[in-house]
Amino acid sequence: MLDLGSEFTLYGDAVRAAIEGVLETQRFVGGPPVEAFEAAMCERLGAAHAVAVSSGTDALLCALMALGVGAGDEVILPTFTFFATAGSVFRLGAKPVFVDVDPRTFNIDPGEVERAVTERTRAIIAVHLFGQCAEMDAINEIAKRTSETGLPGGVAVIEDAAQAIGATYHGRSAGTLGDAACLSFYPTKNLGGCGEGGMILTERDELAVVARQLRNHGQTGPYDHAMVGGNFRLDSLKAAVLSVKLNHLDGFTKRRRRNAAQYAELLSEVPVTRPFVAEGHQPVYHQYTILCQHRDALRAFLQDRGVGTGVFYPIPLHRQKCFASLGCGTVACPVAERLCEQVVSLPCHPMLSEEDVEYVSSCVCEFYSGARAEDMTTAAAARGGEG
Ligand SMILES: *Cc1c(COP(=O)(O)O)cnc(C)c1O
Repeated sequence: MLDLGSEFTLYGDAVRAAIEGVLETQRFVGGPPVEAFEAAMCERLGAAHAVAVSSGTDALLCALMALGVGAGDEVILPTFTFFATAGSVFRLGAKPVFVDVDPRTFNIDPGEVERAVTERTRAIIAVHLFGQCAEMDAINEIAKRTSETGLPGGVAVIEDAAQAIGATYHGRSAGTLGDAACLSFYPTKNLGGCGEGGMILTERDELAVVARQLRNHGQTGPYDHAMVGGNFRLDSLKAAVLSVKLNHLDGFTKRRRRNAAQYAELLSEVPVTRPFVAEGHQPVYHQYTILCQHRDALRAFLQDRGVGTGVFYPIPLHRQKCFASLGCGTVACPVAERLCEQVVSLPCHPMLSEEDVEYVSSCVCEFYSGARAEDMTTAAAARGGEG
C-alpha cells in the first residue's frame, strides 16, 4: 500500500542535512524549524495562520478547545471516518452526533447535517475522506444559518483535512474552507513526517492566537496561564524533515492522480464502483477506494498475488463500543453500514509504476471474470450463502 523506502531515496540526502542542521543547534522543540514549516504551509495552501502541533488528533482536540467546545455541546460529524474525528469531541465532554454520508463521495451528507442540527449544535466537522473535499459550501451555509438562531458564539465548521492536503474545492485549497482545519503528518499520510505531527490552519486571527497558547499549556505569558491547554508542541527535527518533504508533495500528488486515472480506465469494464469525483473537486487520492461485491474474497485473491489492500473503515463510528453510552448504536446510517461492507482501497502511492497499476487492475479483472465469479458463488453457497 506504500513504499516509503523508495520515496526516501528521492529526498534522503536533503532530510539528512536538515536533521544535521537541527542537531547542531541542540534546540529540539519549536523554534525556527517549526516557524519555517508553518510559514511554508501557509504559503503553499494560501492559509492565513498555521499552528504546528503534535498530531492530527491533537490538532482536532486543540481546534475544538480553541473554539470553546465542551460539556453539553453537540458536534455533528460523519460516522464513516477515522476514529480521531469523534474521539477528540468525546474527550472534551461534548457529544459527537453521527450522521450518514453520501454514497458516491463517502463524505458527510449536508442533508443529514441539516436534520441533525439542534439548539446545542456548536460545531460541524467535515472530513475530506480519502482526499476529496466534503461539500463545504452547503455545510458552511447550514452553519451560518444555524448561527443566527442557535447558541451564542455560533456554529463553527472544522475541516478534518488529515487525508486531503493538496486537494482543491472549486479552486480553493482544503484547509482554507472553514473556521479551522486540521492536518496530520502521520507517516502514512500524503505529507508524512518522521513520527507524529499535525497542524491547525485558520483564517481567524484570534483563533490562531488561542490555539498557539493551548498548544503550550494555555500559557499567555511566562508561567502565566489564563486557560488550561496541553503539550501539543511539534518537535523541531520533525518540522525540519516536513519542510523538506513539502517540496515533494505536489510531485507525489501528481503521481497519485496519474495512478487513479489509470485505474479509472483499466477498471471501467469491471463490476466495481470506482471513485466518484464531484464537480469542481480535485482529490489527492490518499486512498483509491472502490466499492465491490465479495470484498473479502477479492482481498484474499489479491493478497495471494502479492497485492496489498486496505479496508477503511470496517465499522462505522456510531457502532463503536466506546460510544455506547451515547445511545447512538441504533442510529440508522444505512449508507455507512453498506460502505463498511463494500469498500476496499487499492495501492495508489506515488512510487507505483504504470506496470504496477496494470498488474493490480488485471488481478481485479481476473477475479471478476466469469469463471471466478462462479467459483465464488459456489464457495459462498458452501459457506452457508453469505455473499
Ligand atoms: C489520520 C487521521 C486523523 C488523525 O491524525 P493522527 O496524526 O494520526 O493523530 C484524523 N482524522 C482523519 C480523517 C485521519 O485520517
